Amino acid sequence: MSEKHLVVVVGAGPAGMSVANIMSKRGHEVVILNRDVKFGGLAEYGIFPNKHKLRGGLRKGYWEILGRPNVHYFGNVTIGEGKHLTVPELKALDASALVFSTGAQGTKTIGVEGDTAQGVYHAKDCVYHYNLLPGFSTRPFEMGQRVAVIGIGDVMVDIAHWLSRRRRIGEVHVIVRRGPAERKYNPKEIRAVCAYIDGPALQQEIDRVASRLEAVGQTPEKVLTEMRSEFTKYEPAESQTAIRFHFLSSPKRVLTDAENRVIGLEIEDTKLEPKGADLAAVGLKTYYSLPCDSVVFAVGDRVDDTLGLPYKSGIFITNPHRTTNDPDDSLFQAFDEATGQVIPGVFLCGWARKASEGLVGVAKRDGEWCSEVVLRYLAGRPPLGEPEIAEKIRKLETLLAGRQPELVRTDELTALSEMERQEGQRRDIEEFKFPTNEEMVAAIRKKKQDMKESVLR
Ligand SMILES: Cc1cc2nc3c(=O)[nH]c(=O)nc-3n(C[C@H](O)[C@H](O)[C@H](O)COP(=O)(O)OP(=O)(O)OC[C@H]3O[C@@H](n4cnc5c(N)ncnc54)[C@H](O)[C@@H]3O)c2cc1C
Repeated sequence: MSEKHLVVVVGAGPAGMSVANIMSKRGHEVVILNRDVKFGGLAEYGIFPNKHKLRGGLRKGYWEILGRPNVHYFGNVTIGEGKHLTVPELKALDASALVFSTGAQGTKTIGVEGDTAQGVYHAKDCVYHYNLLPGFSTRPFEMGQRVAVIGIGDVMVDIAHWLSRRRRIGEVHVIVRRGPAERKYNPKEIRAVCAYIDGPALQQEIDRVASRLEAVGQTPEKVLTEMRSEFTKYEPAESQTAIRFHFLSSPKRVLTDAENRVIGLEIEDTKLEPKGADLAAVGLKTYYSLPCDSVVFAVGDRVDDTLGLPYKSGIFITNPHRTTNDPDDSLFQAFDEATGQVIPGVFLCGWARKASEGLVGVAKRDGEWCSEVVLRYLAGRPPLGEPEIAEKIRKLETLLAGRQPELVRTDELTALSEMERQEGQRRDIEEFKFPTNEEMVAAIRKKKQDMKESVLR
């Protein structure tokens, strides 16, 4: 094709891979820079480990994209202030467009006293731990026998799943500021843990908050029936773990011992009050304590404010001036409030654009919409010649080689994947992953050495 451009995608999760897919199909040259050695983002390190079919299908699609001759993958490279490459350095490369699909790497807090105590965790860190993301895989994550999980979304379900199925702890207490009718998890997802839900305790809890539900026109028995109707297609229980809900309960303070270790959670009772079309939780200034060994906040994520893009209140800033295009260009354009201008050629998509928004399919679609916006932008720019593109990629390779000697390219990933497959077979387990970057890089080096020696022999 004659109208060729160079598109740099930062982040190889579902959103970034979706952009890489479309741009490379359109014949453009695509460079992918990814913090993790492996591609996939939360599709690799977020989705619960037993969802083999979903993960396998996504991986297969991503391998196909990486195999295209116009897609250049650089893993183990972090973009950001003080990292391998900064955003200004990346801009100085003068690619045709830069797409940030770095996900939501920061964690949200709700500002509870004691939330830095030993035994307080953020859900995504636990998720990264059990999915063996280097940096998290070898940390101990001591949970104890009674764990309070704050939040009632899909991530809470995954944490409860891990605690009951893998950790086999005694009790999971789900702390919910609003009521059972405002539950956020997907009815399909709750199937993974409904065998562990303590039925009589759920009934008692609904009875306990019944008058407060009735006060906003809800019928407690109806809500309970609806909730129970989702407890279908049980995955059988593999431990004695009991999951118990605490509705209309807002965490106020993490209680600690003299060594600053978690011993419980102080909780404020709440009631529901209409707020616009929604219901908000309002504190009642009455409190109760729940003894527990650890607390997990599953309250959502925010983007990484150290990346080097304009940031405000948990998100990167996008153009506030709406366009009439569909999809609306402004939603994907990075925006500098200091100058009041769109940052030319810099785009955002996926969870980097809307933190914690939706499942893989939503991130993929966001990448598709972003690609349409980028293609519109590229149509107004002069194309680049093949030699110019090759020169820019060479320049990037040289720069990266000086900053990160342990870059991982597609052929090395292929070797790594083969070694992990063989190791899994040898250990007779469904899936084996090297738990640290060092082990991955060492395995790749060894494989290369073995291959060299076999050629010489
Ligand atoms: C616990 C959990 C369970 C989930 N389970 C499911 C499920 O079962 N089914 C489902 O459909 N969806 C699930 N999801 C949602 C799904 O994972 C997300 O919708 C999707 O992964 C978001 O894609 P993304 O590309 O925007 O971000 P991510 O998947 O987060 O990808 C971001 C990528 O950017 C890279 N990156 C980050 N920072 C930098 C940087 N500074 N420099 C370079 N690269 C960087 C990372 O290495 C990563 O590869 C789950 C999410 C979570 C948190």
